[in-house]
Amino acid sequence: MAIKRDYYEILGIEKDAAEAEIKKAYRKLAVKYHPDRNKEDPDAAEKFREATEAYEVLKDAEKRAQYDRFGHAAEGGQPGGFAGRGFGGGVEMDLNEALRRFMQDFGMGDIFGGMGGGGDEGRRQGRNLQVTLRLDLREAAQGASKKIKVQKQVACPTCQGSGAAAGSRPQTCGTCRGLGRVRQVRQSLLGQMVTETACPHCRGRGQIIDDPCRDCRGTGTVRGEETLEIKVPAGVTTGNYMELRGKGDAGDQGAPAGNLRVLMEVREDDLFERHGDDILLDLPVSPIDLMLGTKLTVPTLDGKVALKVPAGTQSHKIFRLRGKGVPHLNRPGAGDQLVRVIAWTPLDLTTEQIRRLQDLRDALAAQVPGPRRDLDG
Ligand SMILES: [Zn+2]
Ligand SMILES: [Zn+2]
Repeated sequence: MAIKRDYYEILGIEKDAAEAEIKKAYRKLAVKYHPDRNKEDPDAAEKFREATEAYEVLKDAEKRAQYDRFGHAAEGGQPGGFAGRGFGGGVEMDLNEALRRFMQDFGMGDIFGGMGGGGDEGRRQGRNLQVTLRLDLREAAQGASKKIKVQKQVACPTCQGSGAAAGSRPQTCGTCRGLGRVRQVRQSLLGQMVTETACPHCRGRGQIIDDPCRDCRGTGTVRGEETLEIKVPAGVTTGNYMELRGKGDAGDQGAPAGNLRVLMEVREDDLFERHGDDILLDLPVSPIDLMLGTKLTVPTLDGKVALKVPAGTQSHKIFRLRGKGVPHLNRPGAGDQLVRVIAWTPLDLTTEQIRRLQDLRDALAAQVPGPRRDLDG
């Protein structure tokens, strides 16, 4: 796990910062690094996530006191720490969770001015939604076609989303002639002032529903579910997302639907440790095989390959299988698979084996060097 930075340092505040200062500092960072505003900057999402995690701890007096006393160890998930009460499970907060917390604390519309949500004037556009798509390493590496079910507002089947009861139709508002807004011209000291406001008659909707549909109470949407097939490209990693236009909540009375963000979350693999597009495999090998050389069979993401280990290989040497890692996303080529051979000491030796090894002991020990650094690989 990466070394975590100090929460106060992340937010750029003093240890004795007041609650209002913490909030202010976080808000500034969150707006600056919000992934929606930094699509070109891959580091922004991590900064956003980090700031949100720091804020979630420091804004809570109890968690803050624990953090002040124990530092990050307070969150380790050991008994006595506050994991489980905090972010649900570990305190490592993922980006998805950070985005959710941020929305909860501030609301998107509040800061970015009408992104998604929108006010209560006019027909409301559908909300933007986000779902997490969990993949295993092979799916992430090879690409996959996954079905997801999204719970969301869908167009009301009774009125087909219009909001008007069967046999009636929404009527164009006479006051604003369907525009939803009215202009007022006033004379002021500075000359003629034109203001535009939401039409008071239709409340900005541009249409009047005399007889609302009973199933959706005139909104045109009801709770529903949609199954979508997501084509995941090869090479995705946790934090990558796809934005599906118009696949969020349906809008009121036929207003445009919101978008759906599908956030990728790649699970840890039992065998391979992923480092960017490279994957690392630890392979236990008999010390005698390392001494004498051997040919090993190594699992990769697509099938097994042979690996020749030359005589006299040290433990922890890393062999590189070119192009056997995760394909690069959106560009040709792939990472490598690294195979780290590790001398594995056999534990169940027979008396006969012990006797034969003892014969070799002194001669071999004489060849082992003294202490040194950088023996890896
Ligand atoms: Zn309806
Ligand atoms: Zn009107």
